[in-house]
Amino acid sequence: MNQSIGRPLQTWVCFAVVVVAGLFGGIERAHADGVERILFIRAEFTNAPMPMTHDVWLNELIGVKEAAETFFVRNSYGRIAGYDADYTPVLTLPGVSTDYIGDIALITYAMLDAARDAGFDVDAYDHQVLSYPGVLNQNFGAAALPGRVWLPGEYPWAPGFIHEMGHSYNVGHAGAIEGNGVPYPGVYREGRDGLFVMGSDDGDMYQMPLPMKYTIGWVDDQHIVDIDSGNYGTYRIYAFDRDTLPEAKTLGLRFEADGRTFWISFAPGLAQLYDEHGGAVWEEGVIVQMQDFSRTFLLDFTPGSQGEGDSADWIDTRDGALTLGMTYTFPNGGPIIRPIAVGETDGWKWIEVRVIPEPATAAILMLTGAVLLTGRPSSRRGDLGHA
Ligand SMILES: [Zn+2]
Repeated sequence: MNQSIGRPLQTWVCFAVVVVAGLFGGIERAHADGVERILFIRAEFTNAPMPMTHDVWLNELIGVKEAAETFFVRNSYGRIAGYDADYTPVLTLPGVSTDYIGDIALITYAMLDAARDAGFDVDAYDHQVLSYPGVLNQNFGAAALPGRVWLPGEYPWAPGFIHEMGHSYNVGHAGAIEGNGVPYPGVYREGRDGLFVMGSDDGDMYQMPLPMKYTIGWVDDQHIVDIDSGNYGTYRIYAFDRDTLPEAKTLGLRFEADGRTFWISFAPGLAQLYDEHGGAVWEEGVIVQMQDFSRTFLLDFTPGSQGEGDSADWIDTRDGALTLGMTYTFPNGGPIIRPIAVGETDGWKWIEVRVIPEPATAAILMLTGAVLLTGRPSSRRGDLGHA
C-alpha cells in the first residue's frame, strides 16, 4: 500500500550494522519476544521542515507499523505478541540542517535529546525509529543496528521498514551466490536474494529465511538437524513459512561443506509469490543457503536463468530451487543432497531430502560397511513417495 505514495524503491540503499558479540559494548539485540515497545521519533529543522503534515505522516506511519507488526508476529510464530508504539510530535532540532550533514551520530543524539525534552523515556523502548529530513543524507538510504532504525526522508514505507526492523533484530542481509554458471562457488552478492525481504528490494513482505529465524531465536535446536558423518540419511523437513509452530517438527537441515555452514529448508509458499519468474519450483524444491554469521547466501540451482549480474540477481534467484530429482554434489567437500519426495500431513507440507556422503567417502564407507552400521536412517524410510 505504501508503494503508491511516491518513493521509488529502487533508490533504497540500506547500510546495515550488525553487531558481532562485544562490538559497541553494551548494545544487544532487542527482545524479540512478547509485546515490544517502539518509539517513533520525528524531527525537522527550522530551515528544512518535513513537507508532509504531521497528521498525514502519522497516518502513514501507523499503517507501516501495523504491516511490520503483522510480519514479525507471523515470522516469530507468535513469540512477538505485538508492538506497543509511541509517537513523538514533530520535534525541532537545534541549529540548521547543514550543521548535521554527514554526521549520523550528531543527529541521533540530537533527536534522542529532543525526545527526552518532550517527555519520552527513550531508553525504555526495545526499538527507536528515527525519521528526519532526507536532505541531510543524499548518499544515505536507511539503516539499522540492534534496537535502532534510521528512516531519513519524508515517506515511511512498509517493506523498507520491515527490512530495517530485521536489522534491529540483529540479522544481516539475505544475499545470493551467483556467477560461473554453477550454484557454488561463485560471487557473493550482498542482499541479492530475491526471495526474502532481507534481500529483495521490491517489497515482498513474506518471510525471514530460516537461518535468520534461528539466529534471532524464533526456532531453536529442536527444529534443526545437524548432519555429519554420523547421521547421513533421508530426512523429512516441514514448511517453515507458516504462522504457527504447534509442535516440534524438523524445519531445517544444517551441515558443513567446503569449510562453511549450509542450511536446507522448505518454503512452498514462495511458489505463488514468484510464479511470474518460474517460482512454481518451490512447491517441490528446497532452499539451500550458506550461513555467514547473521547473513545468508542463497545457492541458485538455475544460475543465469533470468539474467546475470546485479540488476538481474533478485529475479534470477526466484526459480533457483533444488527440486525433486535433482542431485547436487558440493565441489570442494561436503555431502550430496537430493530431494526425493514431497507430501502433506495434516495440512502441513513437507519434503524429504537425502543427504549422503560425498563420493570418495561413500566408497570408503561402503568398503567397510560403516554406512550401514552408523548411518541413521530416516524414521520415515518405509514411507517414501508422493503423498
Ligand atoms: Zn539492510
